[in-house]
Amino acid sequence: MRVSTAFNLLLQIPKASVADVVIGDRDVEVVLRSRNRLLRCPCGKQVRAVYDRRERRWRHLDLVGRRLWLIYPIRRLDCPDCGVRTEDVPWARPGARHTRDFEDTVLWLTQRTDRTTVATLMRCAWETVTAIIGRGVAELLDERRLQTLYRIGVDEICYRHPHRYLTIVGDHDTGTVVDIQPGRSEQSLANFYGRINAFVALAKRLEVYFEEVIAAIELGISNALIEGINAKIRLINARGYGHHSAQTLASMIYLCLGGLQVKLPTRT
Ligand SMILES: [Zn+2]
Repeated sequence: MRVSTAFNLLLQIPKASVADVVIGDRDVEVVLRSRNRLLRCPCGKQVRAVYDRRERRWRHLDLVGRRLWLIYPIRRLDCPDCGVRTEDVPWARPGARHTRDFEDTVLWLTQRTDRTTVATLMRCAWETVTAIIGRGVAELLDERRLQTLYRIGVDEICYRHPHRYLTIVGDHDTGTVVDIQPGRSEQSLANFYGRINAFVALAKRLEVYFEEVIAAIELGISNALIEGINAKIRLINARGYGHHSAQTLASMIYLCLGGLQVKLPTRT
């Protein structure tokens, strides 16, 4: 069997076939050829004409201890709607230099352990793991999660001293984090403190809002969900030895607590 045929069978790269394989001491380079004559723009439109080509390398999952690279002359196209764009390839996310299989393995591991361990195991830079998390969360986070909210819990968490806060919104029905905002709502805090002085008037107001209070009791909302989320976020933050930016921590929270489904490429 030819080496390229063997790698075609082993790798099964969608919409591409193996043209050549170079096996070195530490790396294996697999040169790909597209089986798709049409070029796919990131907007979804398919175009026939090639604008230009340039070689690109993607890191794939290691092969018996060697780094495996996919090499392909990625094409640009002149989309009638978007102008000149780089084609979408099925084995990697747009703009990525790692394959989907590599990135999904990193995401799955990062849901369970710290980024330094993941970077060591996958033999990539710590910053690479962070970039993969940002790209994966942007793709996997379902925008529709905010359309079906019925019962929510809100809390703030201090992720770095002094005074670095995130406001967290949890969905009581799915048990997931659905929104994260930098800072904390001073208005909510002001509302909370302004109630303290109104305890005396509470009994009178209870008569006016009796139906609403009963409705809240029937919904069965307690602080348990948001307190549980808060504890898990503290663990995520400690596991990463703190986070330098709200954005990085927010991506980690979505990845671990946002209900994101990451599939391992090796799982059948
Ligand atoms: Zn387009």
